[in-house]
Amino acid sequence: MSNRQRGALDNTDLLIAKNLIGGKWIGGNRAPIAVDDPFTLDDFAEVPNLGEDEARQAVAAAAEAFPAWAAKTARERGAILRRWFELLVANRDDIARLITRENGKTFTEAQGEFDYGAGFMEFYADEATRALGETIPAPVPGRRLYAEREPIGVAAAITPWNFPLAMLTRKVGPALAAGCTMIAKPASATPLTALAFARLGEEAGVPAGVFNILTGSAREIGGVLTASPIVRKLSFTGSTEIGVQLYRESAATMKKLGLELGGNAPLLVFDDADLEVAVEAAMVAKFRNGGQSCIAANRIYVQDGIRDRFVEAFGARVSGMKAGDGFDPASDIGPLIDDAGKAKVAEHRDDALERGARLVAGGTEAAGRLFAPTLLADVPADAQLAHEETFGPLAGVIGFATVEEALRLANATEFGLAAYMCSEDPKTIARVSRGLESGMVGINTGLISTPHAPFGGVKMSGLGKEGSHHGLAEYLSIKYLCKAGL
Ligand code: NAP
Repeated sequence: MSNRQRGALDNTDLLIAKNLIGGKWIGGNRAPIAVDDPFTLDDFAEVPNLGEDEARQAVAAAAEAFPAWAAKTARERGAILRRWFELLVANRDDIARLITRENGKTFTEAQGEFDYGAGFMEFYADEATRALGETIPAPVPGRRLYAEREPIGVAAAITPWNFPLAMLTRKVGPALAAGCTMIAKPASATPLTALAFARLGEEAGVPAGVFNILTGSAREIGGVLTASPIVRKLSFTGSTEIGVQLYRESAATMKKLGLELGGNAPLLVFDDADLEVAVEAAMVAKFRNGGQSCIAANRIYVQDGIRDRFVEAFGARVSGMKAGDGFDPASDIGPLIDDAGKAKVAEHRDDALERGARLVAGGTEAAGRLFAPTLLADVPADAQLAHEETFGPLAGVIGFATVEEALRLANATEFGLAAYMCSEDPKTIARVSRGLESGMVGINTGLISTPHAPFGGVKMSGLGKEGSHHGLAEYLSIKYLCKAGL
């Protein structure tokens, strides 16, 4: 490690202990929320603990700012988003340091998240000008029919801790590009990246009230946002349990909901797969972000003919991985986000071993919240890890014999976010990718996320899309105009 004090920022203005409402940075009256470092376990920062009153103020500020923001040309809004992107890029390493500090992921992974997350601001800076309408051939003479797009109104975002920047930018980018104003509530475990992002938005020229951010009681803030008739769209990324609750709470105000919820992604490796490609896909799909990703490969199904070779090659890679301090370049993964997260990984390991699985690599808890990257083979299909999100660095290999069996096992879940498959046979690829009940399919790759493609799930994994032009459409409503007497 260099002589730099661990995680110290170049631009100290980016470590912020206040919230932004209506263009003013405010604190709170209640005891603040402590933010801990998942590696050292020290509380190193505090953020305000706001509640209902401030949430109402934020909604009022967003409503007041809406008409002028919506009235700007798309080019003007896009230019501000582009300045925001450029300021983010100028502070790339500081933002990545904040991510590592509050989330625990390695600095290299934090830089990767930065590039992905900032990419949404760049993409939607351009996409703002492409909220195109339609002219519809009229069924009777003398009429012109049009479908115009307009911003849906005040929008709200509630985001999780696993990608503190990217989960926010993929909502803020399209919302502001569309002409909506926004209130955001980041996860209490990782609020600092979001606050730094807000500061750079202010510097970029985002007008007061257009983007508001508050930390504090999720129940109180969430309650105000869902109950408010002013908030026309709520975009939530997090657990299915809370997503279902927010959906229910939003019914009375008929809000549009974007729900990016839990996953239980299968990775299917067929006999005709390229072994190296399949192992690389498994490494990325399983261990990115230490396994704390909603699209992490949670269940790895490998066909009988390739299984022994796959387990041997995958095991060699996993044995070579190290869990440690995210700021240590020798670490491949960082700690889990909290003690409960670590306990869940241990529980899934113990359950699989009790059911007869074989330990191939890792398997041990280490100091603090660290858990060694782990591979289990001969995992039975009814093991807990095949049915619940592990959200940690534990990979389990389960066998299968036929394509039918693979699809049946893969689809035997209430979730449907991502799925992965490895095969060199175009027919197997066509059949399996169509048969998988999931919103996204990675074929011969474990890395699928990009601002340019539609991200989102089916079944209990949620509603709506983020990224691409589909992500912009989520913040637009269609107004039909019918002109007669022409
Ligand atoms: P979570 O507990 O659902 O929390 C997510 C956000 O919701 C946090 O900001 C949290 O605030 C807030 N929240 C909690 N209770 C709330 C309530 N009653 N009303 C309003 N807001 C509330 O999920 P998590 O543990 O942070 O994140 C992990 C989950 O997110 C996993 O299931 C993962 O699969 C999913 N995820 C999905 C995607 C996707 O795109 N589909 C992406 C990333 C993660 P506090 O932090 O203050 O509690």
